[in-house]
Amino acid sequence: MKFLLMILGLSSATADYACLWCKIHKDNRWDTSKHMGYYNEEPIRRTLEEIKSLCHSKDNFGCIHQPLLDIPITHIVPDELHLLLRITDKLLQNVIDEVLERDAVEDFEKSRGQPKGVYLNRLVKEINGLGISFSVWNKRNADGSESQVKEFTSLLGFQKKKLLYGFPSKLHECIYPDTCATVKKYGLILHGCLKKFTGQGVEKNNDDAKRILFQKSNKWDSAKDILCTESRQWDLKHHEREKGTYTKRKLAYWDHDIREIRKQNGQKLGLLLFLKMTHQIPLLRKITATLHSSS
Ligand SMILES: [Zn+2]
Repeated sequence: MKFLLMILGLSSATADYACLWCKIHKDNRWDTSKHMGYYNEEPIRRTLEEIKSLCHSKDNFGCIHQPLLDIPITHIVPDELHLLLRITDKLLQNVIDEVLERDAVEDFEKSRGQPKGVYLNRLVKEINGLGISFSVWNKRNADGSESQVKEFTSLLGFQKKKLLYGFPSKLHECIYPDTCATVKKYGLILHGCLKKFTGQGVEKNNDDAKRILFQKSNKWDSAKDILCTESRQWDLKHHEREKGTYTKRKLAYWDHDIREIRKQNGQKLGLLLFLKMTHQIPLLRKITATLHSSS
């Protein structure tokens, strides 16, 4: 996302107007009362031409530089990482919020001794039942006491996928039936259809570029180095270097002498180590000096 923002000349991802595709203020993102097309229409959607003209004005909606590339914004897609992880984080947060609310309402009317927090327990149990270790706890204050703010296990990518496959069918046991119906109506339950947004190609390219930069370039002009190295490798891909042949000339050396030399070196090294361990430094210096002069 950072990369896309930079390419389009927009300011950072935490800025007021950080959306790549529209000019919504970050404080209004929660608003679901607008119809589906609202953010893709004038006046709120962004266009490349608009970014180019806005970046010179004061009231710029986060446009701070000229876009680097001439790619229409409708042709820019976010990668699956952001689609899957961040969106499912929000969805899970919403589920937990609703479960807590439902518990709070029902616990209020319960008499003493009746079990409380039924729906939260059920939610945690359902998620654990899918083979995902998950729990919800009260956040601790700085002084170690418990606060009323809830935190939950942050899930990894493969756990999210498991959750998306297994959890929707269990959803009706935890949240209000009408919320469950709304979720189904809008098809908000994702069905593994994110693969088409994969960013793996970019990631791979990034990896390769980094390797070339650190291993094969003198870092004077990194972008040029990477492009040149890659095109060179592409041109030379059918010209692999052949292994050089090597014939052993002094057979006696390889059969016998080499072992003797190694043995002697080993003994020398052993002696040096012994001297060093026993702190006989002057003697150690003398011997290393003679070794250097003889070799
Ligand atoms: Zn937007």
